[in-house]
Amino acid sequence: MKLADSFVFPGIPARVVFGFGTMAQTGVEVERLGRSRALVLSTPQQEAQARALSDDLGGASAGVFAGAAMHTPTDVTEKALQAFADARADCVVSLGGGSTTGLGKAIATRTGADQVVIPTTYAGSEMTDILGETAQGRKVTRRDPSILPETVIYDVDLTLSLPKAMTVTSALNSVAHAAEALYATDRNPVMSLVSMEAVRAFKDALPVLVCDPQDRDARKLAAYGAWLGGVALGGVSMALHHKICHTLGGAFNTPHADTHSIMLPHTIGYNAQAVPDLLAPLGEIFGATPGRGLFAFAEAVGAPMRLRDLGLTEDDLDKAAGMAAEHPYANPRPVERDAIRSLLQDAFEGRSPQV
Ligand code: NAD
Repeated sequence: MKLADSFVFPGIPARVVFGFGTMAQTGVEVERLGRSRALVLSTPQQEAQARALSDDLGGASAGVFAGAAMHTPTDVTEKALQAFADARADCVVSLGGGSTTGLGKAIATRTGADQVVIPTTYAGSEMTDILGETAQGRKVTRRDPSILPETVIYDVDLTLSLPKAMTVTSALNSVAHAAEALYATDRNPVMSLVSMEAVRAFKDALPVLVCDPQDRDARKLAAYGAWLGGVALGGVSMALHHKICHTLGGAFNTPHADTHSIMLPHTIGYNAQAVPDLLAPLGEIFGATPGRGLFAFAEAVGAPMRLRDLGLTEDDLDKAAGMAAEHPYANPRPVERDAIRSLLQDAFEGRSPQV
């Protein structure tokens, strides 16, 4: 076993309550934070669930704001802040995926409100101090301690309703966090362990869930993987993969989880050529080179495989390659425009990575 000579471990943030039916503990968790009036947040699609939670909270609920939207548009945040003030709320309870968590973070960083997050996808935002907000069509991402949620309640029951397609892409979104953590410039042995555990959890859970989305053990494993993937995302720096997905999502409005899912084998295949040792554990788990192994796994679980199917054109790939290479950032392999363009072409056509 080889151990790095020196490293920094930033700690693992947030109190976590994990299990089945744990949403019932929301009131206790709000009280534990010393708060008594929670504004419950959701998307319009999950409003009924948010209202039921608000009813359960009784006097500890200050009402529901069900307008959360993808990429945290600031005009939605303005409306939510008004609702927060009108209801004299002192904390938020975010019930949903990364979009709802993003709205809770946007309120918290502006008001100092505590956050209880109840994730219903595998995006992992609940474990990070990262917030991406969109104004005038431009998404700006930043990190700040005031963004980090205080308490996270993983209620496995809530993930049983996640549609099969979203289960697959959201899980691969989480695998992407874990995979990039393995070669992060600020990696450390504990975060690498956490990352490998996340990947193994999804490797075991996903093939079961695509056959039976109601399998409770597999859902439990996937929620556990999502927690750990989120810890990796929040704990160390991400590189090429997240940069390209951010570029595609920001410039061409491609769906978040699908974009991650399609790009993952290609970006990891690209970087594996520079850091084969660091990514070797991925190859061992998926039984091939890291890129090809991830590609075969994604194909086997029915993931979307082609950028073409997200409505992108080859002209868009030219632009995206330029944008991804234009500002330098830390990545194990130099980010060269032509090599990135070729990687994007593979992802466009759904071809397995060449290595
Ligand atoms: P999402 O939150 O946009 O959810 C997609 C849709 O699925 C929504 O309509 C939602 O209501 C619905 N949904 C969620 N859970 C469901 C369930 N269990 N059953 C049925 N329907 C359900 O999707 P997402 O992929 O979780 O989040 C994407 C957003 O999160 C993006 O804006 C992305 O940038 C952000 N994100 C941020 C971070 C971070 O650390 N800041 C990390 C990951 C993702």
